[in-house]
Amino acid sequence: MKKPTILVLGAGYGGLMTVVNLQKKLGVDDAEVILVNKNDYHYESTWLHEASAGTLRPDQVRYDIKDVIKSDRVKFVKATVENIDVNSKKVATTAGDLTYDYLVIALGFEGETFGIEGLDKYAFSIANVNAARQIRDHIHYQFSTWSLEEERDDSRLTIVVGGAGFTGIEFLGELANRIPELCAEYDVPREKVRVICVEASPMVLPGFDPELVDYAKAQLQSKGVEFSIGTPVVQATPEGVKIKTGEEEFDFIKAGTVVWAAGVRGNSLIETSGIESNRARVRVEKDLRAPNFNDVFIVGDCSFMINEEANRPYPPTAQIAMQQGEVAAENIIALMNGRETKTFVPDIKGTVCSLGDEDAVGVVYGKKLTGKKASFMKKVIDNRALLMVGGPSLVLKKGKFNLL
Ligand code: FAD
Ligand code: NAD
Repeated sequence: MKKPTILVLGAGYGGLMTVVNLQKKLGVDDAEVILVNKNDYHYESTWLHEASAGTLRPDQVRYDIKDVIKSDRVKFVKATVENIDVNSKKVATTAGDLTYDYLVIALGFEGETFGIEGLDKYAFSIANVNAARQIRDHIHYQFSTWSLEEERDDSRLTIVVGGAGFTGIEFLGELANRIPELCAEYDVPREKVRVICVEASPMVLPGFDPELVDYAKAQLQSKGVEFSIGTPVVQATPEGVKIKTGEEEFDFIKAGTVVWAAGVRGNSLIETSGIESNRARVRVEKDLRAPNFNDVFIVGDCSFMINEEANRPYPPTAQIAMQQGEVAAENIIALMNGRETKTFVPDIKGTVCSLGDEDAVGVVYGKKLTGKKASFMKKVIDNRALLMVGGPSLVLKKGKFNLL
């Protein structure tokens, strides 16, 4: 009998967890497992704010896929997926067409611009390793150009961060620590540099614990970060961003760098796949399958699930993507063996938001943490993710050990 083909698209948290669990639980002859990813490396999306601010080297954020997969059990194809058609069970990639018995879509997130004019052209997005490098290099370019100019334009040294969600705040935490180093490197007086966070909602980190939000905001402000709250960005231009400050009132912030961190959507390939979606996210069945397609699983940021207790969607996080990968693997094996699939129930252990290398805020197992304790916990979480995918050797290679 022909072995079933399990095709996994994307080697982010969800895709890699699916594959490492399949390779652990399946024998060599049980199935042909194929993993397709754009690059031959995985990157820790959850560390991209550090690479973007220049506080962590980009190569520290990524590791080779071959280091965590067993080549006798998983075939890795380095290719970009160009189209998914679940009706004809065909996936078009730059390495040719692929078909499957079971498909796992784990193609991750894209920055959401909500159609706001100019953002796609004039703002940077913390999207992947190369985008992070570009942000870091652009900020360096602005500092060095300012230093060279005879007639200096100080707005070169203004950095606008759109969105005070977890990504925006974590990036600001790194940036606030990095700016004094950049000032020293390029002989720029600190007071010439402005870092402004623009948030549409009336609060920073909307929905998070108010006491922790106050702590985070105060810590960032003490390092010179300015906040413009309740003022949505409505346009980006080559000179900066236009913000709405009142009913019919607007302001313009001139800035040399605009980083857009105001939310995510699923991978746009979902929208032409034949599966119903909203903002490229699929409301999956309880066992993580796509509605009406019994052989298609969706994990990570391309999936959408409602937290029925809280009556609101679960946020797209690495924590959930990893847990989904584990259950998707189990459910595929169950189907192969004619068994019932199991329901996926997220086990949310907590949320920790870093504020630079030595500070953070978080709630872990219901307990509030701030400062070094929270920062320690964040690094433990980061190392645990490496451990779950690649074991102790990956932790030793890429882990964070400056724990105190
Ligand atoms: P991803 O990790 O985005 O992986 C998708 C993979 O698919 C990538 O390897 C990509 O290269 C590949 N791919 C994409 N398109 C194609 C294509 N066309 N062809 C082939 N391959 C393709 N969550 C937390 O739980 N905790 C945190 O602390 C946290 N911090 C974050 C910090 C930042 C700065 C950001 C941006 C996000 C953070 N998140 C955090 C959210 C978390 O990163 C995402 O929820 C998580 O990455 C989703 O995992 P995924 O497997 O769905 O996709
Ligand atoms: P988000 O949706 O959580 O936050 C986006 C923020 O941008 C919101 O506060 C929103 O009000 C604001 N915004 C939207 N439109 C705007 C506009 N026009 N002008 C100004 N502000 C605007 O998105 P995110 O921060 O990118 O996070 C994405 C996902 O990744 C979330 O699920 C988050 O929980 C997760 N994440 C988790 C961590 C962590 O656990 N430490 C870190 C980063 C991201």
